[in-house]
Amino acid sequence: MIFLRVAIPSPLRRLFDYLPAANQQESDFTIGARLTVPFGNRKLVAILVDIVQHTDIPAHKLKAIINIIDQHPPQPKFIFDLALWAAQYYQHPIGDALLQSLPIHLRKGEPCERVHEYLLHALKDTDQSLSTRAKKQLATYNMIKQHQSGISIDALKAELGSSASVKILLEKGLLEKRPRPHLKNDTSEPLREPAKTLNPEQKTAVQAINQHQGFKAFLLDGITGSGKTEVYLQVIAKVLQAGKQALVLVPEIGLTPQTVSRFKARFNVKVVYIHSNMSDRQRFQAWLQARDGDAQIVIGTRSAIFTPLAHPGVIIIDEEHDQSFKQQEGYRYSARDLAIVRAHGENTPVILGSATPSLESLHNVAIKRYQYLTINRRAGDAVPPVVELLDIKGCDLQAGISEPLLTEIEQHLSRKTQVLIFLNRRGFAPSLSCHNCGWIAPCRRCDARLTLHQKPPHLHCHHCGSQKSIPRQCPECSSSELNAQGTGTERAEQTLAQLFPDYPIWRIDRDSTSRKNAMQEIIEKINAGQPGILLGTQMLAKGHHFAKVSLVAILEADSGLFSTDFRGMERTAQLITQVAGRAGREKIIGKVIIQTHHPEHPLLQSLVDKGYRDFAQNELKIRALSALPPYQHIAIIRAEAGNPGRAETFLQLAQQTLNIDHVSSSGPYPAPMEKKAGVFRSHLVLQSAKRPLLQHFLSQFCLQLEHHPLANKVRWSIDVDPYDMF
Ligand code: ADP
Ligand code: ZN
Ligand code: ZN
Repeated sequence: MIFLRVAIPSPLRRLFDYLPAANQQESDFTIGARLTVPFGNRKLVAILVDIVQHTDIPAHKLKAIINIIDQHPPQPKFIFDLALWAAQYYQHPIGDALLQSLPIHLRKGEPCERVHEYLLHALKDTDQSLSTRAKKQLATYNMIKQHQSGISIDALKAELGSSASVKILLEKGLLEKRPRPHLKNDTSEPLREPAKTLNPEQKTAVQAINQHQGFKAFLLDGITGSGKTEVYLQVIAKVLQAGKQALVLVPEIGLTPQTVSRFKARFNVKVVYIHSNMSDRQRFQAWLQARDGDAQIVIGTRSAIFTPLAHPGVIIIDEEHDQSFKQQEGYRYSARDLAIVRAHGENTPVILGSATPSLESLHNVAIKRYQYLTINRRAGDAVPPVVELLDIKGCDLQAGISEPLLTEIEQHLSRKTQVLIFLNRRGFAPSLSCHNCGWIAPCRRCDARLTLHQKPPHLHCHHCGSQKSIPRQCPECSSSELNAQGTGTERAEQTLAQLFPDYPIWRIDRDSTSRKNAMQEIIEKINAGQPGILLGTQMLAKGHHFAKVSLVAILEADSGLFSTDFRGMERTAQLITQVAGRAGREKIIGKVIIQTHHPEHPLLQSLVDKGYRDFAQNELKIRALSALPPYQHIAIIRAEAGNPGRAETFLQLAQQTLNIDHVSSSGPYPAPMEKKAGVFRSHLVLQSAKRPLLQHFLSQFCLQLEHHPLANKVRWSIDVDPYDMF
């Protein structure tokens, strides 16, 4: 008698036991395979986690599974184990964690096999039967005919912008689908373009990594523009020569066609990418190619950490400090941290690269867990920019820009270079207020103000997404004098266009880039090299290489200086350093101007005088003194309910059951934004110097919370190693 212990997508942190169906034997089952099981009156895709001889479930309650989906588990054993480990570490329900490690097609129970890829072939001499009036069909037909060895539907779409006529042409018998011939990659000559000659620091880094066999974690701390990517490329070259594969993770908005093309330009091998802008089918196919060893380089965002590789060779995390590696809701894993676990298990090197490494990674260097590699010079002839603080106390500002900065912008433009203006606030203005009574347009669902947008005109909550039309009159005093307060990117764009009518202004923020390919189109315009102004939010700060930017202006550094979050300083320092790093990346010498009301602030002083590394060492000392990560380990329990006070009561009751040495708690206290999207939120912070103790405690605590009398009246979640405290 055997019982099947399976994980199913349920919020409960446990496994469920089932019986095999009639005539099924133990040998029909493999751990990690998908099954279909009955659950309530639904049919769910489940994953087999264990086969056991005993169960505590009474016999009359046991149900049989419906069927076996996979003869062989879709993932290699190691990735399955990694997903199990992560579920445990992040205290996430196991079924959800296991399923999230799989492509969406597989979560839905579709067969795990490669869709036969087809190429379209035009059949000879049948074009006479097409009327000259069927212009679209004719164009499609002729395009396909030009490709004698056939063309895929995706490639056709890319060339023609549509594939609308294909169906009709197939029906008319003018086209034929034939399976794509399976080409094996030839990796004997992986280089397409020659590698760059490394400077001494790059060389030291490449050698240190390449001489290493097996697991080792490296922190590559290279200033902006120092050529970290070249280091990655040369490490990957060696990996490819050994017949292995590379997995490269980049921040969410860093996966631009530019990034991908650098890898494709260098190597003769198959490069696939995995990110959220692709269709589920495309992602699934890329996943399969990685798993089967047909793609040698896999570039992806956070979730790609679970992409299996047939021959793992190296994992690279670019911009390792970036917050997008940590999932901020639901299953709150950190892909960067899992990369270390994965590399250890697969016995490969892992490289974390950044110009502004996280304090966690620097701490891991200090305790000798990671090997530290630095690049202190910019690659090629470029030199680091000159950084200046500009005191704007009492200055007149136009759209946030002071007089001296305007003069500076003019000078740079007249020298035919580009200027980058950083303003981390999208929309027209951060608020709308009444001049007569001081009323400020609030979000009804959040403790927040509504942002005014002009294109199209509306009020928008950046926290919950609710939108409203702009009132004509103040709802409090009926005055019609409603004013936009402060400056967002839309307003700055408008003012800059008036001030610099002869120059283009390229605005980059979430709104201006929401259309597909919009970002790419703007970047192409910028890289054409004409003088002009780049204006944008943090989307501009990350990883871009703009050759012509000579001046970077940070309009407002102050909001980051007084954050209540313990990581506020670290984030601000990273952002300022990354933005500043966009200046002077090639032959032009760069300048950075930071406008502030607090030029004496120690963070700004230390960044300007000594740079990020010095700041980071000081900040680490402060973290040690204040018993904060990375010296202590924390987890936040977040609870929310529609009823004010209920979330807090839930956490208070939970806290009373808490008594354990070496784990301390603070709270519950209202979240920094207590009301958000119509619910009231409360936090409880748990902390320990000893990670295993915290882990052990959390796993017990989660079960208690599941059985808490208020558990079905509040929504709660647990965040291990939280990135932010909101
Ligand atoms: P990072 O990722 O460290 O910010 P990049 O890898 O984007 O820097 O490199 C910045 C620029 O320097 C790129 O244009 C790159 O092609 C160039 N570069 C990198 N290494 C070298 C080298 N050894 N010699 C010449 N140019 C280099
Ligand atoms: Zn009013
Ligand atoms: Zn809101």
